[in-house]
Amino acid sequence: MQLAPYDLVLRGGRVIDPAQRLDGLLDVAVRDGRVAAVGKALPGPARETIDVRGKLVLPGLIDTHAHVYRYVSGRFGLDADMVGVHSGVTTVVDQGGPSVLTFPGFREYVAKPAATRVLAFISAYMVGGLEGHYYPELYRPDCIAVDDTIRAGRENADLVRGVKGHAEIGGFSRWGSEAMRQAARIGRGLDLPLYIHFGQLWPLPDDRHPYDPDAILPEMLEILRPGDVVAHPFTRHPGGFVDHHGKLHPVVREALARGLKTDVGHGSHFSFKMARLVLDAGVVPDTLGADMHGYNTTVPKPKGTPETHPDTEEMHLFAGAQNFSLASAMTSMLALGLGLEQVVPMVTSNCAAMLGMENEIGTLRPGVEADISVLDDVTGRFVLQDNEGTRVVAERLLRPAFCLRAGRRFDADSLILPVAVMAEAA
Ligand SMILES: [Zn+2]
Repeated sequence: MQLAPYDLVLRGGRVIDPAQRLDGLLDVAVRDGRVAAVGKALPGPARETIDVRGKLVLPGLIDTHAHVYRYVSGRFGLDADMVGVHSGVTTVVDQGGPSVLTFPGFREYVAKPAATRVLAFISAYMVGGLEGHYYPELYRPDCIAVDDTIRAGRENADLVRGVKGHAEIGGFSRWGSEAMRQAARIGRGLDLPLYIHFGQLWPLPDDRHPYDPDAILPEMLEILRPGDVVAHPFTRHPGGFVDHHGKLHPVVREALARGLKTDVGHGSHFSFKMARLVLDAGVVPDTLGADMHGYNTTVPKPKGTPETHPDTEEMHLFAGAQNFSLASAMTSMLALGLGLEQVVPMVTSNCAAMLGMENEIGTLRPGVEADISVLDDVTGRFVLQDNEGTRVVAERLLRPAFCLRAGRRFDADSLILPVAVMAEAA
């Protein structure tokens, strides 16, 4: 009996692998949990063949902005596999959930049991992402332990790929840039990127003068290093990439020229108007990041956690239909006029570069673990809507079908996947 050379072959899909400059109708073969070959009409036999004609076959999607420290971050944290493999995403990067005080629990109770590959940007703040940063005073500069956080990052180097901080007007009005200067020291100490949330997060304090939101970005530029990541360029909140004149902030180009990276961090504060302004000014973000959490999905809140939060807002990317996934964020980029050749790197190769893992993930190069995402690429007319009420008609919709994580198949059956609404019905 002839031995099957492959365990599984995905036949005839449109394979896009930016790292290998591949884009074409190809087969992908998997053996022993790794990519064995990519090519035209690979010879059989295989133990299993899946016909994926008409579908997109991509390196396993990477969500650079997830919140998966479930229960410890209160309502904020979602189940890692719900936003991960059951939503067609093979790697999730928790942004600022675990911290120096809570990292062991993250490793044991989140990263270890998950089928999804779970990584983290460790919080710069001792309390991490407890209840979605609900109490601003816990994020003041004297609640940052620089040396201990560097040590925690080093001892968890297999999971920690960066540091998370917040440069937003609520914090700057309270403490100026001091907290961010300490966060940057942690990033330098670990020699890892610092990922910075821009756009208002916390309410302004009553007793102090508010900081000018347009002054935050220039002040941060002095603090940041090449490779650091500025997040939420498309936020509708003040303090992002669009200044109060409604123009691209003049320092953005300088920031990008200096080697800073940009992550969309889509979330519920995403604005089609702001995105249009930024893209029209020629700035295309490097990575996407879905930024889903308990405040913008229909997942019920754990008992005893606060009823309301400044971020509490349902996500209605598809008009009339709640919920979200990284594929929905890709759909919204396509609706803004970006092509697949721009959007696919934002969820694969560019993410791997940001994480320093180009040889491990974000590619279908033979030999890497078989993390592969298969998406339906549906044409039609779909109504998208942001939380400002701006409606956009998308002519193309990406929907996860299934993924392989190290060769093991997971269907996209997460309860938070949205149901699209056709334009005619909306
Ligand atoms: Zn977030």
